[in-house]
Amino acid sequence: MTDYLTKQLLTWKRTKRKEYEEAVLETIGSIPTFNQLTTEHANKLYRIRECIEEKLILADAPLDVNKVAKALQHATQASSIGTCDMVTFSCSFCGKTESWGSGNTPKLCSTCAHETATKLVLCHEQLFKEA
Ligand SMILES: [Zn+2]
Repeated sequence: MTDYLTKQLLTWKRTKRKEYEEAVLETIGSIPTFNQLTTEHANKLYRIRECIEEKLILADAPLDVNKVAKALQHATQASSIGTCDMVTFSCSFCGKTESWGSGNTPKLCSTCAHETATKLVLCHEQLFKEA
């Protein structure tokens, strides 16, 4: 069942080493030898594959996740009027309190904006008008 998956991971280990190592580290917390890795539960191997695929899509995407995240924060600001003081606000999604450079605060904290931006960029091809 996992032969194809194992071959794919081995190919990425050789050709996309940075993405491979980041994905393995994020998924299982260390970078074992490849033979040790293949003894991991199939669900972890699938998660590693998914993680590498996401990293490759994000690397090739025409959109910058950090810029999209900033745009999301600016797009959710209450109004264009605000004081110039540093203020704190609560994120409407997660409730986390964060600082912002004006009284015109966004509805999203930087973490939620980044997570949403990442999801948007991962499906960026669906955002363009039909040719
Ligand atoms: Zn948040």
